[in-house]
Amino acid sequence: MTWIAELLYSNMEFSTLASKLFILQMCFIFPPALGITNKNIPLVVITWDYLQASQKAWQTIYHEKRSSLDTIEESCSLCESLQCRTTVGFGGSPDERGETTLDAVIMDGITMDVGGVGLLRNVKNAMSVARKVLENTGHSLLAGELAGEFAVQMGFKNESLETNSSQEMWQKWKNNNCQPNFWKNVVPDPSKSCGPYAPKSRKNYSEKKTNLPVWNEQNHDTIGVLAIDLKGHIAAGTSTNGAKYKIPGRVGDSPIAGAGAYADQDVGAAAGTGAGDIMMRFLPSFLAVEEMRRGATPKEAATTAVRRIAKHYPEFAGAVIAIDKNGTFGAACNGLPDGFPHYVVNLELGEPTLFRETCIKPCKIGGDCF
Ligand code: ASP
Repeated sequence: MTWIAELLYSNMEFSTLASKLFILQMCFIFPPALGITNKNIPLVVITWDYLQASQKAWQTIYHEKRSSLDTIEESCSLCESLQCRTTVGFGGSPDERGETTLDAVIMDGITMDVGGVGLLRNVKNAMSVARKVLENTGHSLLAGELAGEFAVQMGFKNESLETNSSQEMWQKWKNNNCQPNFWKNVVPDPSKSCGPYAPKSRKNYSEKKTNLPVWNEQNHDTIGVLAIDLKGHIAAGTSTNGAKYKIPGRVGDSPIAGAGAYADQDVGAAAGTGAGDIMMRFLPSFLAVEEMRRGATPKEAATTAVRRIAKHYPEFAGAVIAIDKNGTFGAACNGLPDGFPHYVVNLELGEPTLFRETCIKPCKIGGDCF
């Protein structure tokens, strides 16, 4: 480090302002030049046990020295094409009509630009389309049929997202009187029969539990990726095919900035996975980033976000991952009996390493939640 100090303070011809700035810039971009290595960076944190996506992320961010946005796109796209656990990409989570639709978001922590697609139909590359929204439009979220048209205009292929297995899954559900489903306060009784449904008169509404799909580790698995690249650039993203047997038209939490994912270069980033219809009511990714801004560690911030939801919905199943700008990471979950697996990789770990977070203790409705 002394040679740098000497150069900066010497009166030699070399020490022009431009040269000094250049040296400082190089030290910022390549901290090892100063003998400073932050072993936490580059960093990638990925929800669930998506090993191949995590390996792809590390390959992109570390070996290929590419950006955090590229890393998010590469790892999510791989999961989409591998149909990770059939909860990401085509051929999974059919809606009530048997169609698979996709949700994805990507957020740049420096520019605060966001690209999201919700309810994307007939195009497999949800994350890449989301990145096109970020880079080629002034919008933050496109949805539905017309998001598909945008994707085709951007060069993506129009093709069916159904597979034999998604059609079988859907057929089984139909044969089982359309159970479970997301309806309530309608006739005929949605816990017994298929639709079409009509609303009950309001005086007959009941709080009685409906036959909502059960969310657990096996059936809900959005890929959420948080990344800090070699230049320190922070970004976040998600990709999913959403909820099984959703009502056609449903958009989940994943493509919504602040709900599915959020990134802010001054602080860090966060992403959520789980019962999206509930989670999006609390903007858990935004909340986690704001908690870190107030000084919380990533784990404390994720825990606050999860507790906020669990206070009102003690049985919700879901998790939040968070990182701060220094490369510290953490996670929290609720309602997952076996805990929440997630992959982390940084310079220190050297390869994707699986962590499993134990969930918070159950909360009482509206009561204390510790
Ligand atoms: N959050 C996603 C959704 O509700 C699903 C998941 O994470 O499994 O669409």
